[in-house]
Amino acid sequence: MLTSQVARMQRDLAQQYRRYAAMRTEVGLVMTEQCPVGCRHCLSPHTMEVPDLPTLEEHLTWMAKVARVDRVKSLSITGGEPFLYFRRLLELVDGCRTLGLRTMVITSAYWATSGEVAGDKLKQLAHAGLTGITVSTDEYHQEYVPLANVSRVLSAARECGLSPKVALTYLPRGRSVEQVRGDLRDRLGQRALDGVEIEAGGIVQLGRAYDLEFPGTRQAERTKLVCNALGPAIRPDGTVESCCRAPLPSTSPLILGNLNAEDFRPMYQRFLDHPIIPFIQTWGLLEMLERLLDEGLAIGLDGYRNAREEEICDLCRAILSEPAHVSFFAETFHDPEVRKRIGILAFVLYGDSALLEGPDG
Ligand code: SF4
Ligand code: SF4
Repeated sequence: MLTSQVARMQRDLAQQYRRYAAMRTEVGLVMTEQCPVGCRHCLSPHTMEVPDLPTLEEHLTWMAKVARVDRVKSLSITGGEPFLYFRRLLELVDGCRTLGLRTMVITSAYWATSGEVAGDKLKQLAHAGLTGITVSTDEYHQEYVPLANVSRVLSAARECGLSPKVALTYLPRGRSVEQVRGDLRDRLGQRALDGVEIEAGGIVQLGRAYDLEFPGTRQAERTKLVCNALGPAIRPDGTVESCCRAPLPSTSPLILGNLNAEDFRPMYQRFLDHPIIPFIQTWGLLEMLERLLDEGLAIGLDGYRNAREEEICDLCRAILSEPAHVSFFAETFHDPEVRKRIGILAFVLYGDSALLEGPDG
């Protein structure tokens, strides 16, 4: 393998591990599921149909609950499209600053139709306390949102002192991550990307993306189907889930509670002590499936043995929809040997020693 490829792999792994660690101190807030763009690869099936913005009072009450947990340092505001409700975004960012929480926002930049608009909105947000902005772009976003918008946001972010990031997605087994990154550099120009962190992630088959055509070629390497999207995320109805992608089925064991009914602290503790999450993050879904099949469980799921990268969420949901599977992992989690092994992996992956300390901490 070429030295540059090894260096890139090491950099990607380091980025992934930083992300794992960050997700122990950062909470996601899905401000709204609504979005006027309507990309073909969106995880959410709807765009503008259902207004779902909570009241400002609800938002601020939830944030106050989140801020009381010392370990949580920042809020990542996402959607849908948070800029759809710009005034609320400003109020939230300002409210979080008062509570001592840093805020980042994720957007498609659909609203950045001129340099003045981009500069004006980001100036207001920076003044309210925003610290970073991530722009999502890729071939599907670009069907609706020109790259010029992305460039305006990155440039305005730098001028306002916000850390700029780009989130790219790609079709597994399609163009490589390097090619997708290279295309972006060629089209935007290196200057536009100076000082910009670029994150890349594979598209999964959820929501609208069920209708996408994924390349059928064989995978060069078998992946374990480890999920890197596990972190507390608040939905517009106050539900707190430990999955940052699309909303989970209401019976999922990854749902931690609802902020309208409970404080955030016990939910966050449930996240840290969760008996299933460490398996998803360290063994991966394929090894979990093999263990269930060895136990004579997961009857009917053996077709997933050859699951591909884009089927990770389907497999995850299929495994977790069965209470017997959930009980199996919850029991396995309490086996001291297993716990020690996943504890070491978890410590290496996201720097959390909680699982090394044993059940009583
Ligand atoms: S992917 Fe993002 S920009 Fe595209 S429709 Fe979904 S929320 Fe909107
Ligand atoms: S694999 Fe499971 S936890 Fe991860 S994003 Fe998909 S549904 Fe959520």
